[in-house]
Amino acid sequence: MIPFDYERAMGAASAVATVTGHSGAAFLAGGTNLVDHMKLGIATPDLLVDISKLPLDTIEELPDGRVRIGATVRNSDLAAHPLIRQRYPVLSQALLAGASGQLRNMATTGGNLLQRTRCVYFQDVSTPCNKREPGTGCSALGGYTRNHAILGASDSCVAVHPSDMAVAMAALDAKVVVLGAHGKRSLPLTALFRNPGNEPNRDTTLEHGELIIAVDLPADTSSLSAYRKVRDRASYAFALVSVAAVVDIDDSGTFREARIALGGVAHQPWRAERAEEVLRGAEATEENFRRAADAELVFASPLPDNAFKIPMVRNTMIAVLRQLAGGQNNG
Ligand SMILES: Cc1cc2nc3c(=O)[nH]c(=O)nc-3n(C[C@H](O)[C@H](O)[C@H](O)COP(=O)(O)OP(=O)(O)OC[C@H]3O[C@@H](n4cnc5c(N)ncnc54)[C@H](O)[C@@H]3O)c2cc1C
Ligand code: SF4
Repeated sequence: MIPFDYERAMGAASAVATVTGHSGAAFLAGGTNLVDHMKLGIATPDLLVDISKLPLDTIEELPDGRVRIGATVRNSDLAAHPLIRQRYPVLSQALLAGASGQLRNMATTGGNLLQRTRCVYFQDVSTPCNKREPGTGCSALGGYTRNHAILGASDSCVAVHPSDMAVAMAALDAKVVVLGAHGKRSLPLTALFRNPGNEPNRDTTLEHGELIIAVDLPADTSSLSAYRKVRDRASYAFALVSVAAVVDIDDSGTFREARIALGGVAHQPWRAERAEEVLRGAEATEENFRRAADAELVFASPLPDNAFKIPMVRNTMIAVLRQLAGGQNNG
């Protein structure tokens, strides 16, 4: 490992000022992703600013009914919190489908959103990778592509975002609260992430030194929701594909609202907006579930090893919608 300095952040604003003014600095939260990357030589910060002891570790209901999750709340605490389990079960399910108990005890809300892709070439510094070293090429193209993207990819990068939590948060219309050198801003979670385009080295829209301080969940919880993850092993594996759905179906069986996000298919948690459009105002029937899935997948562009993801997303999305239309909340 390359030598680096370490300091414990005394406050959010001073942490932001330090990292903003130091191009080689990085925030350290649970360290479960960043420290691995330092050991592998993928990340080489010369200063770690440890934010894990900042007072950003609470989950609270705001006066308007929204729920604010501090950036350093641990994944296990978030999954187990009564407010989350009762009002946003899809988020608990997604968190519990991720990593292992030990990792969830360390991993934080902010760090989970900002974890980097598990593309094997990104993790192997002996291979070219545009995300790791811009302009060197993409080893996945022409290589092993089973785990890669089918939506929103580019000729520069076909990696997928690995977070389960982010998929549930995308379906919940969560907002991310960010502190930067010029103050605080709030943005939809889906606007935090970006498609690779010709700058795959940039995973998000954050500037260097911007600190996620919280994630806000909307007050409205009149919906049914579920998260379903398909993976190679029953636990301790990243999603091949996953589906988070939050729906509101009226007494006559018509979708008042449908919000769907997909994991394991794109550079970001993918909001299935075309599918949602088909469902809003439509009856909750098998035919409409199929139409919705097909509307989203018509633009899917599989790679040599991952065409199986198209029927896998389709079947998983239909199964989740069928389950929710039957009134079952659990994934
Ligand atoms: C073996 C293994 C299996 C895993 N399986 C899964 C899985 O199935 N599903 C899943 O979702 N995840 C999985 N993970 C990933 C794990 O959930 C992440 O490593 C973890 O959530 C990262 O959080 P952290 O707090 O440790 O982040 P860190 O490693 O501390 O930080 C990650 C990145 O975020 C930045 N950062 C951290 N907090 C902030 C903040 N508040 N503001 C701005 N920048 C910040 C850091 O600078 C760094 O760049 C797995 C990890 C491992 C090692
Ligand atoms: S898919 Fe992206 S992360 Fe993977 S090798 Fe290509 S450029 Fe790198």
